[in-house]
Amino acid sequence: MKYFSLLFPVLLILLFPTVFSQDIFTFVLHCEHEEICDKLEREFANVGIIIASNLVLNTKILVDVTYEPLDPDDFAETETNLMKFVSPGDQVERLYPTALLKQLNTGIDFGDAADIIMSINSVINFWFPSDGEDIQPDQYDILATSLHEMMHGLGIATTWRFPPDIDTYLTPRLNGVEIGKIKEPVTFEGFYESVFDENLIYINVENPDDERRITEIAQDLNGFTPKGTEFPTVDALFDAFTASDQENNAELMLEYATTELSLHFILPDEEEPVLLHTTEEFEAGTSITHFDQGAYEDTPDFLMIPSLRQGVSLKTLIQQTGNNPGGGIGPELRLVLKTLGYTVNENPPMGSTSTPQKRRFTRRNNQRKPLIHF
Ligand SMILES: [Zn+2]
Repeated sequence: MKYFSLLFPVLLILLFPTVFSQDIFTFVLHCEHEEICDKLEREFANVGIIIASNLVLNTKILVDVTYEPLDPDDFAETETNLMKFVSPGDQVERLYPTALLKQLNTGIDFGDAADIIMSINSVINFWFPSDGEDIQPDQYDILATSLHEMMHGLGIATTWRFPPDIDTYLTPRLNGVEIGKIKEPVTFEGFYESVFDENLIYINVENPDDERRITEIAQDLNGFTPKGTEFPTVDALFDAFTASDQENNAELMLEYATTELSLHFILPDEEEPVLLHTTEEFEAGTSITHFDQGAYEDTPDFLMIPSLRQGVSLKTLIQQTGNNPGGGIGPELRLVLKTLGYTVNENPPMGSTSTPQKRRFTRRNNQRKPLIHF
């Protein structure tokens, strides 16, 4: 009986997904109980409305959501379906989310694979706004969580990571493939940045004239050996990399990614770039991939900071920071999405317009470590 009771929820998840569409999105929800799926459906319907009011989307985006127990330190995890595509600006091949490529005129056949695959942690004490109750001090707003995760799925994510068993340098994604899915022997095809990575820049916080485009580092790393070189294993490839003259560059990237207030996302038409989240230790999935906590948590661009406020609803955060028009998607986040290649609705129909605000730039307010990642 024990065996059966373990299997039963899994079978339910597989057999009875809830499928619904909201604007340009189709959501497939997998939950243990229909009641949870009903609640999630109401929240994701709102997520669809908020995103579709900020972005001009023309082709269906398929989102697969599973409500399941995860590591208690995680709110949620999001995997993005990525495809190699040549960036129009500098003609470098990078990894693009299919959700974005679908909106461009590429002629690619995308099939029916999900563009965004999300797991929401059922262990977290989530508050569902559509329940109509007030959020409790120990609860987290699931609408804010889902909207944040969707931003990752739409392309707010870096591919810079530690290689397997190495913690002294970072590289973009080897061959553009998740490390566990690389077959050996392995032919070196290149380290692939994401479309988000194209716009990263290091600016020395002590000396702003000292700056370096991160994509230049990525292109340099790709020269460690000729493309097409074969290695018996992934480990052998990284052994050769470590022995090459590019190791220093990869170490430099780790130094940048672990120096506070130093990595930014360039907005082509704005004077100030977006300050990204870095901490003294590199955290895969958190570092680089978020807006700086101290600079943005009290601004309309609070959504992409790395930690979620406990006991505060998305609606309250919107009211406190004056982000009415974006429904939680702030002016700088909209500009980041535009830079990735999305067509942005400059005046979202959710209220009056807002423009990027001047931010506080203080050195020490970035120290607080987020307790839970998302
Ligand atoms: Zn996140």
